[in-house]
Amino acid sequence: MKRIKIVEALQQKETGVKVLVKGWVRTRRGNKNVNFIALNDGSTINNIQIVVDLANFDEETLKLITTGACIAAAGTLVASQGQGQNVEIQAENIEVYGTADPETYPLQKKGHTLEFLREIAHLRPRTNTFGAIYRMRHNMAMAIHDFFHKKGFVYVHTPIITASDCEGAGQMFQVTTMNLYDLKKDENGSIDYSHDFFGKQASLTVSGQLEGELAAMALGEIYTFGPTFRAENSNTPRHLSEFWMIEPEMAFYEIEENMDLAEEFIKYCIRWALENCQDDLKFLSDMYDKELIDRLNFVLDNDFKRLTYTEGIKILQAAIAKGHKFEFPVDWGTDLQSEHERYLVEQHFKRPVILTDYPKDIKSFYMKQNADEKTVRAMDVLFPKIGEIIGGSQREEDYDKLKKRAEEMHVPLKDIWWYLDTRRFGTAPHSGFGLGFERLLLFVTGMANIRDVIPFPRTPNNAEF
Ligand code: ATP
Ligand code: MN
Repeated sequence: MKRIKIVEALQQKETGVKVLVKGWVRTRRGNKNVNFIALNDGSTINNIQIVVDLANFDEETLKLITTGACIAAAGTLVASQGQGQNVEIQAENIEVYGTADPETYPLQKKGHTLEFLREIAHLRPRTNTFGAIYRMRHNMAMAIHDFFHKKGFVYVHTPIITASDCEGAGQMFQVTTMNLYDLKKDENGSIDYSHDFFGKQASLTVSGQLEGELAAMALGEIYTFGPTFRAENSNTPRHLSEFWMIEPEMAFYEIEENMDLAEEFIKYCIRWALENCQDDLKFLSDMYDKELIDRLNFVLDNDFKRLTYTEGIKILQAAIAKGHKFEFPVDWGTDLQSEHERYLVEQHFKRPVILTDYPKDIKSFYMKQNADEKTVRAMDVLFPKIGEIIGGSQREEDYDKLKKRAEEMHVPLKDIWWYLDTRRFGTAPHSGFGLGFERLLLFVTGMANIRDVIPFPRTPNNAEF
C-alpha cells in the first residue's frame, strides 16, 4: 500500500478506504480495550488519531508505542466518533520503526518552555510550535521568491566569503586556513595574510548588497536571498550572528519607488501567511499571542506612515517633554534605539512607519546624499514589536560624491574599486533595501525571540548543533 501524508488523510472525504500513514507518536492513551494514538508526520500541525483495538494487537508491540516513537500504521479510514477530527484510522497493522525510551526522551509532556526547547534544538522540530515555525519559514521563503519572480526580478547569488570590509568594520567573522598557533607576522607585527588561503584577509559577508548593485547595473531588477554573518556582540531578542537577508536592488528606482516596493513586498508576504498558513497561525496565536492574526490583518489594511528622521526626532522629543521616559536619549544625529522606533510605531502612529532622510554620519557611505549636505536618502521600515525590519536607501550614483564619502568614512578604496567602477561606467540612479528574514518571521509567527524562528540559532557563545 502506498503511504499517504497525514495532511491528505485528514482531508479525505471518502471513508471506508484503506490507508497507510507514517509518523511520530505524540501521545498514546486509552483503556484496556482500546488505545488512541495521536500521530504526526510534519505535513500539518494536526495529528491523525489511530484507533487500536487491543484484542487485535499483541502487548509487546503496543508497549513500544510511546511518545516520540516512529511508526507506520495501516488501516481503514473511518468517520471519527470523537471530538476534534473528522476522520480517524481503525488500525489493522502497526510497524514500529524506532522506539523512544520514555525514561530518556526529553519531549514527554506538553508545555516545555521555549528556553528548554532551545537546548534540545535537534528535537524541537517535533513539537507543534516548531513544526508550525518551520512550515511558516518555508512559506515565507516561497512567498519571497514568488513575489520577485512574478515581478521579473532576477535572483542573484552573491558571495558568502568576501575580502572587502567596507560595511562591517569590526563586526565580521574572519575566514582563514592559517595556523593560528604559528602566525606569520611582518616587521611591524601585523599578520601577513599573503600566506593565507586567499592571499589576503577574508571574512564572511555581512550583506550581499554591493555585489547585488553590480548585477542591477546590468539586469535592472535583482534580489539576493542568502545567509549573512555579523560578529556584533548584541545579545538581544532581535539579533543573530548568522541570519538570512533578502536584498532587492533596482536600477532607475528613486527612494519613493523603493518605499512602495518595500511596503508591497512585506504585505505580500503577510497575505501569503494568512492565506497559506492558517492552521499554523491559529495554533501560534492560541498558544502565544492572541492578537497575532489581528495584527497581521491590521498591517495589510493600513498604509505605512512615511516621515523623515528629523520629524521623528521632534515627535520623540515632544513625548519626552510630556513626561515619556526612554532609556536612551534622543538627539538629532544619533541612531534611534528600538524603544524609540517602537514608540513611533506602537504609541504615536499605531501602524508601520517608514523613516527617511537620516543623518549621513550614522548611515553607510553608499547612500545618496541630500542637497542639505546633512542627510542621506535612507529609509528604515519600522514594525510593531520589532522596530527595524527593513533598512534601505537610494544609492549615491555620482562617482565623485561616492568616492569622497568613502574616503571621509575611511572605507579602503582599494577594496572597492570594482564597486566604484559601476559609477564610472554607465552609472544610473538606483535603490535597494535589506529585509532581515528572521525579523519578518518574528512578525508573522508572533514569536518574541529571534532564536525561535531559525532552526539552529547562532549567537554569542552559542553554536551548538
Ligand atoms: P539593527 O539596527 O536592528 O541592528 P542594522 O541597521 O544593523 O539593524 P542593516 O545593516 O540595516 O541592520 O540590515 C538590514 C536588515 O537586516 C535589518 O533591517 C534587519 O531586519 C536585519 N538584521 C540586521 N542585523 C541583524 C541581526 N544581527 N540579526 C537578525 N537580523 C538582522
Ligand atoms: Mn539598518
